[in-house]
Amino acid sequence: MNCLEEKILKDGLVKEGNVLKVDSFLNHQMDIDLFNEMGKEWKKRFEGKQINKILTIEASGIGIACIAAQHFGVPVVFAKKSKSINLEGEMYTAEVESFTHKNKNTVIVSKKFLNENDHVLLIDDFLANGCALQGLIQIVQSAGATVEGIGIAIEKGFQSGGTIIRNLGYQLESLAIVDDMNWETGEIKFR
Ligand code: 5GP
Repeated sequence: MNCLEEKILKDGLVKEGNVLKVDSFLNHQMDIDLFNEMGKEWKKRFEGKQINKILTIEASGIGIACIAAQHFGVPVVFAKKSKSINLEGEMYTAEVESFTHKNKNTVIVSKKFLNENDHVLLIDDFLANGCALQGLIQIVQSAGATVEGIGIAIEKGFQSGGTIIRNLGYQLESLAIVDDMNWETGEIKFR
């Protein structure tokens, strides 16, 4: 069992509706020592890949991506959730449906910060149905850049995202894969 799995068992809370609450260490209060271990592990798993940029999505991916970036020595760009619609021309855009908030957001990345020379590692906190990742992949493709790999902290293996993304052929490295969780008993099982 790795340190992220241990932390999930110790401090994660299973909520109704297939939601795992990890706000005491991952996406509200942040455990930087844990993030550092996660960054180290992704660096190992993506050894040999020519990565020159990390792309994540606001808000929860940003902290994780920034600590991971120190292991890769590359900048972090985050896709912003935007209400503005009149940004075409200067921005790459994608529609992303939020798993936790059940609403749709347009996410944007400035054309200044992503182009065809970029070899990108995508990072996010959770993978559920894969909407957030598919939005990020679309943005990378619009820029003519290359997705070199995808690092996820927690994949919920009982939802469809992991299968969709692996079937697209990407190297997806999830540090903890939850295959089953029960909100009534609080039990969590890993792959
Ligand atoms: P997807 O787009 O893959 O359906 O969902 C991924 C996004 O939804 C992540 O960026 C994350 O913020 C949020 N998310 C999905 N499942 C969970 C969960 O169980 N707990 C929390 N805290 N966030 C989740």
